Amino acid sequence: MTNKKHIVIIGAGFAGLKLARMLNNHSAYNITLIDKNNYHQFQPLFYQVAVANLDASNISFPLRNIFEKSKNVSIRIGNVNFINTATNTLETSAGLFNYDYLVIATGATTNYFGNAAIAEFSFPMKSTWDALQIRNTLIQHFEDAVSSTTFDNTKNLSIVIVGGGPTGVELSGALAEMKSDSLPYQYPELDFTKMSIYLIEGSDRLLSNMSAVSSKTAKIYLEEMGVTVKTNTLVKNYDGAKIVLQDDSTISSTFVIWAAGVKGNSPQGINPLIITKTNQLKTDLFNRVHLTQNIFALGDIAFIETELYTKGFPQLASVAIDQAKNLAENFKRLAKNEQILPYNYVNKGSMATVGRNKAVVDLASPALSFQGFPAWIVWMTLHLFLLIGFKNRIIVFVNWIYKYFTHRQSLALLYDGLKKR
Ligand SMILES: Cc1cc2nc3c(=O)[nH]c(=O)nc-3n(C[C@H](O)[C@H](O)[C@H](O)COP(=O)(O)OP(=O)(O)OC[C@H]3O[C@@H](n4cnc5c(N)ncnc54)[C@H](O)[C@@H]3O)c2cc1C
Repeated sequence: MTNKKHIVIIGAGFAGLKLARMLNNHSAYNITLIDKNNYHQFQPLFYQVAVANLDASNISFPLRNIFEKSKNVSIRIGNVNFINTATNTLETSAGLFNYDYLVIATGATTNYFGNAAIAEFSFPMKSTWDALQIRNTLIQHFEDAVSSTTFDNTKNLSIVIVGGGPTGVELSGALAEMKSDSLPYQYPELDFTKMSIYLIEGSDRLLSNMSAVSSKTAKIYLEEMGVTVKTNTLVKNYDGAKIVLQDDSTISSTFVIWAAGVKGNSPQGINPLIITKTNQLKTDLFNRVHLTQNIFALGDIAFIETELYTKGFPQLASVAIDQAKNLAENFKRLAKNEQILPYNYVNKGSMATVGRNKAVVDLASPALSFQGFPAWIVWMTLHLFLLIGFKNRIIVFVNWIYKYFTHRQSLALLYDGLKKR
């Protein structure tokens, strides 16, 4: 028996993990951190796993290692299936949990906008597992091509990436580097001049959340690298062999990666009145979920509408981390019966990388955009800094140096059990 309050956190992503770390060993709280994976995944570098520049373990961190000396944080691995807000309980595949406070930090999942065929045949990139599926299928394609006498290079080696946000831009740039740097040496029998990489974007520019100069520079970089960029282009359908665009033109490809949208990963049991069209949870500036007293939402799942941000705050790692820091401070204040403080979103800027020596950075204050080598160094430094674990930082850094000088993917391993179809 204890008079400590029990906080259950669902999701050990950027937000949930930060909150648990900040309340680690706090005398007023017992914490249960529940995630369906036993590791934290660093999503910004998924694309490097997909193109075999990094191994999955380099961007993942086992949760139990992080809290092995903790006196108040318990880890449970399981899927949260239902939240019963009337009884303050959670149904999960790891059992039933009671909570005094619940923190929902379940992030976002791929949004196919209701198109079942696209969901069935394209590849998402929202988990380490997805990134490994992409990598395996990619390598398997080339292996199939060299062993076949009837393989059609123009169709079967073309890759289409849908969605020109940071994920689509970074992935298509990395695939273009793979195509020019290592594939012709690893598969000399194949003609890679016939392999096309398309990046398709519905709006009129890539990286639409960044400045016009960054969007334009990213497009120039990609086109120089051989990527066919199509803006103002919407995808209508995909049957596993042919992608149909809104004007009914088609692109033949057996390999389509869908990076065109996300929606909140909202667990069952939440009052539908507070779920938005984007499947996020309506939340106030204290990160408290509307119509509740003891439930909070953090990061990508939280929808906080303000006068300036009518579509909610951007779904970024930095936002998730900052909200978690604010909520941790508020839990500490609650323990001392002090007034809790609102979260104040500060735009720090954004960045994306396209390839070796090629990146774009927009700083918010001072308002400044820069590109090329300096932007690439800033991008790498920030991502190394954000990675969890000293060992991971060293390994990723060494891999990047190796890749920079050798121009080769060193981790192109084919795992038999991973084939998607
Ligand atoms: C490919 C990619 C690249 C990105 N690049 C950048 C970038 O460069 N910079 C940037 O700032 N942001 C980037 N983002 C966005 C950033 O990763 C997210 O904003 C951030 O991860 C949000 O943090 P979160 O804690 O809200 O959710 P997440 O980090 O997604 O964590 C959610 C956690 O909840 C768990 N979970 C979900 N549902 C359940 C359930 N029912 N039961 C149990 N556990 C559950 C998941 O396993 C996961 O661990 C990128 C995202 C992607 C997909």
